[in-house]
Amino acid sequence: MATRPLTKLLQHPPFPTYERPAQVSVVFDGSLNPRLADTLPDVIIRSSDNVYFAVHRGQILFTSTNRFSALLSPSPRCTAARPSAFTVPEPSDVLSDLFHTVYGLACDLHWPSLESIQATLDALKKYGMLPLEAHVFQDTFLYHAIHRQSRVFPLEAYTLAAENHLEDVAVTTSAETIHSRIIDLDMTLACRMGVMYLSRLHRLHDMRREGLKQLFLVRMTGHAETPDCDLDQQRETYIDLQLGCKALFMMEPALYVGDLEVELNEFRSQVTCPDCNVIVSAEIARIIADFKRLEKTAI
Ligand SMILES: [Zn+2]
Repeated sequence: MATRPLTKLLQHPPFPTYERPAQVSVVFDGSLNPRLADTLPDVIIRSSDNVYFAVHRGQILFTSTNRFSALLSPSPRCTAARPSAFTVPEPSDVLSDLFHTVYGLACDLHWPSLESIQATLDALKKYGMLPLEAHVFQDTFLYHAIHRQSRVFPLEAYTLAAENHLEDVAVTTSAETIHSRIIDLDMTLACRMGVMYLSRLHRLHDMRREGLKQLFLVRMTGHAETPDCDLDQQRETYIDLQLGCKALFMMEPALYVGDLEVELNEFRSQVTCPDCNVIVSAEIARIIADFKRLEKTAI
């Protein structure tokens, strides 16, 4: 999280001294920032690691159902000149992500870990920013952060979405789990997911496996016999492609579209009969298109 040394503005509150030098958030630094609001901030919140955030009471109350865990009074007593000030137990990276979420800001240069995202979700719940779906949906900062992590930790990201009942995120991240072996799913993850999302994940993987089975069933027609390619040769080509597809199916779930294209194109390059090559090319194109379609399958 970007910070800079404490500004004069944020020296107002009588906070106790910390060993670590005070820093101030670069985004929530107490200046007039049209991205946040058209007025100066009137609340200063310090994180557990001594970073200050200047925010707007109105914006916090608008999004919080419990007045920021009752830290903000119902009637306005603070101004930019005399801001409310208090310390919270959350670290600055969590507070930063929370305030980016509350203000609906993008945060393109910062990609928190799943652990940090969970801590932010916990903070959103604690400070009354509910329901979570109102703050984590398509095109929001946390939505993108979870989706990005799902490319590396698909099952963990899906679990996080499931246990926080973030339906849109669960659907998106489920598509990233298709290359995971859910037969080896960790019991802890399964419990955190809950029965409903676990069951939907199993259904997705069963459906995909069945789809792949159908997809790899070769449907080739022959061509009229020629001096260079009789029916036996055509049958041999058909069987070779069928066996190749069976081997590719056995690679699941570790088979990616790039590997599939390389293997099938290699096979096509070895088909010397021009008529068979046209037929094989069409079948390979169908297999790859169907495979790409299946890659997008979600719960
Ligand atoms: Zn042929």
